Amino acid sequence: RGKKAFIAGVADDQGFGWAIAKALAEAGAEISLGVWVPALNIFKTSFEKGKFDESRKLSDGSLMTFSHIYPMDAVFDTMADVPEEVAANKRYAGNKKWTVAEVAECVAQDSGSIDILIHSLANGPEVVKPLLETSRKGYLAALSASSYSLISMVQRFGPIMNEGGAVVSLTYNASNRIIPGYGGGMSTAKAALESDTRVLAYEAGRKYKVRVNTISAGPLGSRAARAIGFIDDMIRYSYENSPIQKELAAIEVGNVAAFLVSPLSSAVTGHVMFVDNGLNVMGIAT
Ligand code: NAD
Repeated sequence: RGKKAFIAGVADDQGFGWAIAKALAEAGAEISLGVWVPALNIFKTSFEKGKFDESRKLSDGSLMTFSHIYPMDAVFDTMADVPEEVAANKRYAGNKKWTVAEVAECVAQDSGSIDILIHSLANGPEVVKPLLETSRKGYLAALSASSYSLISMVQRFGPIMNEGGAVVSLTYNASNRIIPGYGGGMSTAKAALESDTRVLAYEAGRKYKVRVNTISAGPLGSRAARAIGFIDDMIRYSYENSPIQKELAAIEVGNVAAFLVSPLSSAVTGHVMFVDNGLNVMGIAT
């Protein structure tokens, strides 16, 4: 039986979520996506127009397909949490069942159960502001979208995960080291995500017999990273200073995610795995 995967946080073919989908598709998994509600229309239109066809190509020549594409907003757990202005927003009102609990219900209905849960999303409205200038609202929004969203997903999808299943999220080493420019509480959000990965590994491990790990990725010029503004500098810095001097390809993260959800890593849980050409082990810039 092919494994079933649900991946939250794909809205184009440039980010880590897409690359993880590809690596899982290569390994024979059946993939469904959760796409951020405001990005869903353009994603679907681009998909239908064939804009992703080149990057959908698998090694056997076939095109990667998705069994279901769900609208999703990971900052809301149930409809009771949704403020009126969001519910009334055209892009939201035109879609249904996009809170985390509702998406999990839809996935249960459509797929029964899943084996693989991927969290590849983050959002920090004040990411360009230093922590010293970050508002309480911006800080809490970063934590809500980028950290609590993982807890919410494990809460709601855990019950429909098969034993031996695995959860993987994406983090960044700004959790441990000072990365000037990665602001708005996003550094805090990643620290929380890594800590929660350990506690969830224990709790969901005992309760659902699933593993929970996170990948600490090196810099990639995704849409989210471009919004932060200094990604090209980060890519250059990483190239110049890493033990392995090459640019990180998204598929390298995809392949490690495939390992972390496969039986090859059956004793690995609660782990922060660096996929960064080794930059994190350097002590000084070269
Ligand atoms: P990306 O833009 O491809 O992915 C981020 C996704 O999050 C987007 O698809 C966006 O639509 C979605 N999203 C934002 N808010 C959401 C919400 N409330 N509900 C549902 N979806 C929402 O960019 P990416 O860089 O591939 O990011 C994926 C993950 O990788 C993130 O956790 C990011 O922090 C992490 N990461 C990125 C880098 C990098 O350099 N790009 C490095 C380390 C870690």
